[in-house]
Amino acid sequence: MKKVVAATNNAKKLEEMNRILTQLGWEVVGLRSCGDFPEPVEDADSFEGNARIKALAAHRNTGLAAIADDSGLMVEALGGAPGVYSSRYAGEGATDADNNAKLLRELADVPAGQRAAAYACAIVFIDDDGSEHSAWGTCEGEIGFEPAGEGGFGYDPYFLSADYPGQTLAQVDARAKDAISHRGKALRSLVAKLG
Ligand code: IMP
Repeated sequence: MKKVVAATNNAKKLEEMNRILTQLGWEVVGLRSCGDFPEPVEDADSFEGNARIKALAAHRNTGLAAIADDSGLMVEALGGAPGVYSSRYAGEGATDADNNAKLLRELADVPAGQRAAAYACAIVFIDDDGSEHSAWGTCEGEIGFEPAGEGGFGYDPYFLSADYPGQTLAQVDARAKDAISHRGKALRSLVAKLG
């Protein structure tokens, strides 16, 4: 069984990574349970660049194989925003509620049918020997007008999934989200590549 440290302090993301990787036979430990490390500055301009920064920092700090996800929402009508700024769309320290409120404000004049969006996820994995591997996944949908559902996190209450028509990713159960999510696709692709 492969043991990896997941380079995230986002509890919801860790829960998803843990659930998906455990199913694939990996053992996941959270970074916080390995020690108290400073968070690296995520100043790359791509999801993959930021995932690499987090994975390398976790590998160096713990000496363990490390995996990091950098992900976000891209809305067509907003030219791909919030993109790499998804977690701090409404500013540093923004909550999911703050970010969702800003998203709805920005889309206030955009009618149904023109609110296409996609989540994207880059995964970077640094193995025990320092070798680097990466993978990518996307999940298509559109942004609704009202929140619905209690599951998931982030923008999920407004993200109407193309795979489950009429439902947001906060309404489908956790395993159903994993089956079609950007994170699920990227993690399964990574594990498949590693053989
Ligand atoms: P990161 O930690 O810099 O990768 O930030 C990712 C941000 O993108 C999160 O804080 C959420 O706002 C958003 N995000 C990424 N994946 C998801 C998801 O599966 N559901 C909802 N929001 C997501």
